[in-house]
Amino acid sequence: MQLDPSKPENNPAADDNYIGLRCNKCNKPINPADAVLTPTGYRCKECVRGQQKIFDTTKPFDSVLGFLVAGLIAFAGSWLASRIGFITLLLAPGVGLLISNAVRMAVSHRRSAKLNNAVLTGAVVGCAPLLIMALIPLFISHQGILPSLAGLLPLIWQVLYAVAVPSSAYAHMKGFRLK
Ligand SMILES: [Zn+2]
Repeated sequence: MQLDPSKPENNPAADDNYIGLRCNKCNKPINPADAVLTPTGYRCKECVRGQQKIFDTTKPFDSVLGFLVAGLIAFAGSWLASRIGFITLLLAPGVGLLISNAVRMAVSHRRSAKLNNAVLTGAVVGCAPLLIMALIPLFISHQGILPSLAGLLPLIWQVLYAVAVPSSAYAHMKGFRLK
């Protein structure tokens, strides 16, 4: 049977069950004419140019899961940060990577911009309780006497942690490589 490829219903790339050529990066069906052969296989033009938008492959619960996982790990890490002082600086990027890997595993590697934002929000919320705890002494400082530098250090570590962890987790979720 001869199909007219100009009709949308006959366009193989529009069919979900299409088993022909697919981009080996984003899995999008591609017409042989649009396929670009790379050392790792065929890719669509968008992926070759690096301009592929993230497909929303997530399920509704994935963002909730991402938020919770990010929040729990960020909170656990901030508890650790309150005890290890300057080592927080070494810990924070690792916590961001851990969050990203744990979330990816939890959502079976599904991706979406919404999920990335949920992870960012979760990480910020997870950092918040101990950051607020570290802020409290500033407001109840003894009769207006400014706390010493040593007294401020726990707060400084928590602030750095609360900035570094969510941004590192978000960057890893988006697929950037942070060194
Ligand atoms: Zn692609």
